[in-house]
Amino acid sequence: MIDHNIPYGHQLITDEDIQAVVETLKSDYMTQGPRIGEFEKAFAKYLGCSYACMVSNGTAALHLCAMALGIKPGDKVITTPITFVASANGFRYMGAEIVFCDIDPENYLMDLDKLEQLLKASPAGTYKAVVPVDFAGYPIDEQRLRRLADEYGFAIVVDACHAPGASFTDSKGRIQKVGGCKYADLACFSFHPVKHIATGEGGAVTTNNPKLYEKVNLYRTHGVTKDPSRLTKIDGGWYYEMQELGYNYRITDMQAALGISQLKRLDWSIARRNEIAAKYDAAFKDTCIRTPKRIEGIVHAFHLYVIQTPRRKELYDFLRENRIFAQVLYIPAHLMPYYRQFGWKEGDMPVAEEYYRHCLALPMFPSLTDEEQDWVIAKVLEFCSR
Ligand SMILES: *Cc1c(COP(=O)(O)O)cnc(C)c1O
Repeated sequence: MIDHNIPYGHQLITDEDIQAVVETLKSDYMTQGPRIGEFEKAFAKYLGCSYACMVSNGTAALHLCAMALGIKPGDKVITTPITFVASANGFRYMGAEIVFCDIDPENYLMDLDKLEQLLKASPAGTYKAVVPVDFAGYPIDEQRLRRLADEYGFAIVVDACHAPGASFTDSKGRIQKVGGCKYADLACFSFHPVKHIATGEGGAVTTNNPKLYEKVNLYRTHGVTKDPSRLTKIDGGWYYEMQELGYNYRITDMQAALGISQLKRLDWSIARRNEIAAKYDAAFKDTCIRTPKRIEGIVHAFHLYVIQTPRRKELYDFLRENRIFAQVLYIPAHLMPYYRQFGWKEGDMPVAEEYYRHCLALPMFPSLTDEEQDWVIAKVLEFCSR
């Protein structure tokens, strides 16, 4: 018997995390101090990429990628409908026309066969960027995307907000971390409390492309630079220039301290999430619940554990009555009133819409106790047997 609410996701803050923030508060810096650069280096090293740029949130990260790629009003950008709306919005801020591509019924990620059909139907260069989402923590086939990108001429921006710590094995047998950008141009992360690394608000852009990195870095701080090699003149030590119209998308030193501390636990947290997933998988075998697909050669980050059932609404309500706050993720983005104004409607993305009718994300976070998970499993099985 569990006598408290169990959410679908929850941050884990340790004494060590708190100590790291307190130390920062006692230092000379609250923002723009040494912790940010330290977090960037540690994150880039962990992922195996050249550059990480820490920013104020995941949505800002997506917007900065759109800016760095020079997306202009009317440029076509493809993303998936089964995502948080920010994946599309980051590009809408630049006036892009968002084209949704339906999902794969097996892994709920952008269907790359459908993407290829879409690309084939227009001349190369029609689409400026493709924004796949590593939904729930499952890595998209970046190698196949790279081949398509080279053929059709678009930039790959992986929305990896669900997938820090996830990896895939490429055709050469090398393990590639999501966000390492071996095949993608850019990747975006969020450090919102429900995500793997929780800094309150926070996000990151990663890349191996120095030009894109420089742009993201410049747009993050108002388009202002003090870099002598970039200045058009130098009046003195105080001199800086605003060279582009940028934003204040900075993260603070306090948040970076929290991020550095949490990054150390990322591998443990992914392992724990996979343990929880394996227990759910086993418990729901041969029941009315369809569990997520697993394949060899990938490390799933399990931001979400999404099941499907035709009686989803009943299950959602039943779990709530038992203080289990499972969540429906996501309502297809193309059916949001905002995106409907561009002509998107029911029936446009049949697989995503079918997914939405059946999906439910069960509690999945590293500090979920065995007792709590047993309660969730017992209630789901009780529901199935009715
Ligand atoms: C959380 C999330 C975002 C946005 O991140 P914020 O930090 O909340 O701005 C973008 N895309 C996906 C897939 C997300 O889950």
